[in-house]
Amino acid sequence: MNSYLTVVGAGLAGSEAAWQAAESGVSVVLYEMRPHHPTPVHKTGDCAELVCSNSLGSMNEASAPFLLKQELRNLNSLVIRSADQHAVPAGAALAVDRDLFSAQITRALENHPNITFTREELPVIPEEGPVVLATGPLTSPALSQEIATLMGDEYLYFYDALSPIIDASSIDTSKTFFASRYGKGTADYLNCGMSREQYDAFLDALLKAEKVALKEFEKPVYFEGCMPIEELASRGHKTLSFGPMKPVGLNHPETGERFYAVVQLRKENKEGTAYNIVGFQTKLTYPGQKEIFRMIPGLEHAEFFRHGAIHRNTYVNAPELLGPDFQVKGRPGLYFAGQIVGVEGYVESCAMGAMAGLSGACQILNKPFHLPPQETAIGALLKHVLVKGRGSFQPMNINFGLFTGKETSIRDKKTRNSAIISRALELQKSWLEETGKLNGCSKSSEG
Ligand SMILES: Cc1cc2nc3c(=O)[nH]c(=O)nc-3n(C[C@H](O)[C@H](O)[C@H](O)COP(=O)(O)OP(=O)(O)OC[C@H]3O[C@@H](n4cnc5c(N)ncnc54)[C@H](O)[C@@H]3O)c2cc1C
Repeated sequence: MNSYLTVVGAGLAGSEAAWQAAESGVSVVLYEMRPHHPTPVHKTGDCAELVCSNSLGSMNEASAPFLLKQELRNLNSLVIRSADQHAVPAGAALAVDRDLFSAQITRALENHPNITFTREELPVIPEEGPVVLATGPLTSPALSQEIATLMGDEYLYFYDALSPIIDASSIDTSKTFFASRYGKGTADYLNCGMSREQYDAFLDALLKAEKVALKEFEKPVYFEGCMPIEELASRGHKTLSFGPMKPVGLNHPETGERFYAVVQLRKENKEGTAYNIVGFQTKLTYPGQKEIFRMIPGLEHAEFFRHGAIHRNTYVNAPELLGPDFQVKGRPGLYFAGQIVGVEGYVESCAMGAMAGLSGACQILNKPFHLPPQETAIGALLKHVLVKGRGSFQPMNINFGLFTGKETSIRDKKTRNSAIISRALELQKSWLEETGKLNGCSKSSEG
């Protein structure tokens, strides 16, 4: 094993991984291929470049994104500290001046005495660990190929087709019914039946709704991947009612009522606190999704844990490939971090980078590293990544639907969320004390 940590990619995850390890007193060799090898979306050579929005999510203290940022603050996160320092007014969100934000992170990493910063593409996975691969959704083609060879093609995905996820407590279950098609197996799906009139109104609104334009590099992916619901809708009046909204075998189990179309909701977790709308991957804007999907009977007051999306991505099938210690099974010392490990979002990517960086540093320091409890935001994300769930593995952003623990059964939403947050911060505090908070012990001049 090397006496230093190799980190590949200085995006949101790699920057944080390198920082956490370096602040723990470990030497880090950090590779970043930009600006010499650009990606289709990055525009600069700076670290932690925000490729699209300049928002790092909600600052509302009762929200899951706030909790995640708070846990990272408690970990002395370089990314979140730089965001706080370069925040711009954005209502309830933490938005940043993207140039100042990335410039500060770049400076902190370039000047850190424990970091050797190499501006090169690393096309291969280093044999000797520990290594953190944090090369993101646009991993260079050569390295993607290497990863596919190591993992097997079937474990590497190249696009996301995400259906929206709904807070179960916001569904009006008096208008829905549990059933499986033709009564086969257990009645696991929650079904929202539609009359012809309701279907027509829904279709009409869907066709008129505003869509997010596809980027040039996303188009090929789009054609080989799952079709967005609105694209299917545009093919003909009955395409949806013969496709993802087909009603056959789904008459109401008590009344026998037959529907013109049925939208099916599938449990996202064992606890049944979150449901996804089956087959509703979409390029509709977030406000458009709220407006139109709330036309579905039972979803009039739906709260969205995650919006639907379709975009280019590269990520590994983490629950199959990673062990409970976050390392690749059979390859101790090899970590994936950031979006490539199956999380979605800037802050989520940074959190996974922090964990991989700290774990890799502990290996070098020969100290044990325990992942944070599942009741914390970082722990909940790790659980999503490491524990095989229902259906195929898909990237996830932080949301209350990922949390487990007795607080999640509190009925009142406000009380429930505030209990989840208090518990998470309490547990994180104990975890930090137990792990001796490796990072933050040594102070560096920059950052
Ligand atoms: C088009 C697009 C828009 C997005 N918009 C948002 C948004 O608005 N909000 C949001 O929260 N999330 C967004 N995301 C999702 C995600 O949060 C970001 O992609 C985020 O940057 C992921 O962080 P990361 O560290 O995993 O990857 P990145 O930030 O992309 O970092 C990976 C780094 O690795 C480098 N690299 C790649 N291959 C190699 C190699 N072989 N050798 C050396 N370096 C390499 C890259 O140059 C890059 O700097 C978007 C994703 C995409 C693709």
